[in-house]
Amino acid sequence: MIYLDNSATTAMYPEILDIIKKYAVDNYYNPSALYTKALDISNDIKQAKQKILDILKGSGNICFTASGTEADNMAMFGVKKFKDCKILLSSIEHSAIYQCAKRLESQGVQVEYVKVDNYGIVDEEDFKSKLSNNVSLVSIMHACNETGGVNDIENLVKLTKKVAPKAIFHSDGVQAVGKMPINLNKLGVDLYTFSAHKFHGMKGVGCLYIKKGVNINPIIFGGGQENGLRSATENVAGIISTAYALEKIYKNLDIQKNTNIIASIKENLVKLIPNCKINTDTGRSLSNILSFAIPNTRGEVLVHLLEDKGIIIGTGSACSAQKAHTRVPIALGLSKEYFDGMIRISISNSTTVEEVQVFLSEFKNSFEYLNGVIAGKI
Ligand code: PLP
Repeated sequence: MIYLDNSATTAMYPEILDIIKKYAVDNYYNPSALYTKALDISNDIKQAKQKILDILKGSGNICFTASGTEADNMAMFGVKKFKDCKILLSSIEHSAIYQCAKRLESQGVQVEYVKVDNYGIVDEEDFKSKLSNNVSLVSIMHACNETGGVNDIENLVKLTKKVAPKAIFHSDGVQAVGKMPINLNKLGVDLYTFSAHKFHGMKGVGCLYIKKGVNINPIIFGGGQENGLRSATENVAGIISTAYALEKIYKNLDIQKNTNIIASIKENLVKLIPNCKINTDTGRSLSNILSFAIPNTRGEVLVHLLEDKGIIIGTGSACSAQKAHTRVPIALGLSKEYFDGMIRISISNSTTVEEVQVFLSEFKNSFEYLNGVIAGKI
């Protein structure tokens, strides 16, 4: 099988099975207990946190959650809101942020959505025009899950703090972590979300980085774990393996190789489908994603044709498995005939040039077959 949907999830590193055995079967103690074996586990968690902070160059705390979605919810609902405050988001935030914003809006909080360009990158002028000193929270994704477009978070944080010094700046880094070098101190973010299953860790482990000195309210209450921020017995194996996966991904990350592979896919695609719209600006995006939209075509049909050939690719959210969403294609400036034809190719460190050649050849066959069916020739 050739797997080209690594932005949806990645294969877990097989060695993590040993970590699971170590912490779920052999040393299964509850880290909150008082005996030495439990304290050892608690120390292992502390070390995992420190390792993550060291790799991502952050100064503060990592709060473990059960998903990127939960970490995003923690940021959106945990940041203190004051009377008549405003929240700023980009118009293409992942639904883990967007749906929280909708909920807050229904409770009377003012939310404004910043425009993005055709590649999913925040329009700086529009961002500046929406900033005001009553902004309590900004949430702008570091890299877009649809297009791979990377926002200049460092600059957006600086602009925010000039106009609204008390505003909390959150960035959803779920797609960015493991795909590009991250320096949280340099970015200047107050809160930053990431998720282990996007970099070969386990599914069901999310992280919220909280900069030193930043205070947020918990959204889950109970036994007071995670310094009272997120009650629940810790997913020890998940936590330890997240630090392991993060260290390994950054040791192996080959941005140049990914860039070359994505460039070759793009080149072939433009030749095959001259009227397709490329949604990824390769110079300003993650090196592992190519998003494009084919007019008057159902992306999901191509997904199934390729699946029959043993190749897995992704679609855009407008044709997601859940339900039709047109928010993102509209924000990207696509016209209606492109909405259903959004395709996302996302590679990992282990994707090979040979696999991509097979994909390109089968994609051509499937596309031509589909066009033949549409034209009534097949
Ligand atoms: N944010 C972004 C940008 C994502 O791409 C995703 C998942 O695709 C999430 C949040 C949600 O993360 P999780 O799957 O860990 O809940």
